[in-house]
Amino acid sequence: MLRRSVAVELEVTRELNKLLCSVESVYLGIVREVVEYAVANNVTSANQLQGLFYSKYRSEYPSLHAHLVIQAIKQAAEIAKSFIERKKEGLVSKTYPEVRSISIRFTEFTWSYDQFIKSIAPVRLELSLLGVRRVVWLRLHKRFWLYWWRVLRGEAELASTLIIKRRTNKWYAVFVFEIKPKEGTPQSVISFDINENTVAISRIDIKTTVDKIADWNRQYMVPELYTIKTDFGRLARRYEKTRNAIIERLKPHFALPSGNYVNVTSTREYRKFVRKLREEDRKVGRVRHVANELTRTPAIIVTEELGNNPQESMISDVGRSELRHRIKQTPFKKLEKAIEDKALERGSKLFRVSSYRNSRICPIHFVRLERTDDWHTLQCPLGHLVDRDYASVTNMAWKTTPESWTKGVWWNMKQEMNWREYEDKHNPVIPQNIVQYIHAVLKTFTASLKKSPAVLARGKPMNPAREADEGWARKPPKREEAG
Ligand SMILES: [Zn+2]
Repeated sequence: MLRRSVAVELEVTRELNKLLCSVESVYLGIVREVVEYAVANNVTSANQLQGLFYSKYRSEYPSLHAHLVIQAIKQAAEIAKSFIERKKEGLVSKTYPEVRSISIRFTEFTWSYDQFIKSIAPVRLELSLLGVRRVVWLRLHKRFWLYWWRVLRGEAELASTLIIKRRTNKWYAVFVFEIKPKEGTPQSVISFDINENTVAISRIDIKTTVDKIADWNRQYMVPELYTIKTDFGRLARRYEKTRNAIIERLKPHFALPSGNYVNVTSTREYRKFVRKLREEDRKVGRVRHVANELTRTPAIIVTEELGNNPQESMISDVGRSELRHRIKQTPFKKLEKAIEDKALERGSKLFRVSSYRNSRICPIHFVRLERTDDWHTLQCPLGHLVDRDYASVTNMAWKTTPESWTKGVWWNMKQEMNWREYEDKHNPVIPQNIVQYIHAVLKTFTASLKKSPAVLARGKPMNPAREADEGWARKPPKREEAG
């Protein structure tokens, strides 16, 4: 089940604001007290804490709804628990967790959930606030309606707990939607490969009914090869420069009498500056853009099996610290996760193939490619150039077909490999008729390329300096050589 939270601003009069603020302060007070007790006495069971504190707070704040008291104690138990765990791992040095702000949890008993979900166009809700039930109007926006329509269509459900929180003196209701993964008929087969600055994509559209293999119009059976620019690497480099400038500027303020400097990066001032740069936001924006592009229509999405920590394996051979940093900043996993998430939501399926030699084999002739003086371009011994990214995504698509497992074991080298191990990975995610389709498309495509293989090579590199070693970020060369 996928979850999506949607924050909606509340219409708040001065009076309502006062009311919400007092609920918040009482609720926060309870959380703080209970957390302190829980940590000091190492009690993290919500039930136990409720037994200890419930009647105390009920008599202290008789107008606060009983279920808000229960939620406050529950939240305190969660905070205490995670604090104690992190303390055990040595991740925190404080004695008590500092609870600065809190989101208030309204369960179905404390807001008008039943009424809300029965409505076709809910524009307001009711909250139980200090003995009064208040109507609150919502400033609804497009994102909310998109999810609400899904609720109406039975494709999503609204969670019964509503979160109310304050941010810079505005109040928000956070609705949590639980989305049922869609079942879609794939309209295309997409393979993608994440690089430092680009995402390479191969898209095969399934234009006709795949059952009628004989009727396929061969001229349409051409995979589209293209790249989306992400510039994660460039972005990381630019931000690094800015961060270094900030460090230099702050240094004089943190000089010690000995002439040394305090580690500037651990100061509050530095963190404040860095937060303002919003590097993460920009990265997330680009990640979303790519995920959207890849999942626009239901598709079978093919990608490489990334290890748990792709960055680490990629930098094992990379010496320069600046480059290491850039690779670390390339959000491979995040991108993959975002695509997987969106794919599920929109009825696409993700299929992982082994990353073995994807960018070392000619996808037309199945022979080993040789290096050229440009990292991005490889030479096929049969006399044509191949762009590394295109080879990679095309080979990934090949790997979904049975041919890849049998065809001269992929290339003509005497290589002992345990192919059974790979065969097991050939999983039933892709229906057999579509596998046949991919196979036919690739065969037609490569047959046509035998006459004009230039399609697989991109033009001369745009950058005369070539940034040749930038490409090392893509793949651990060692792993490829190993085979
Ligand atoms: Zn070739």
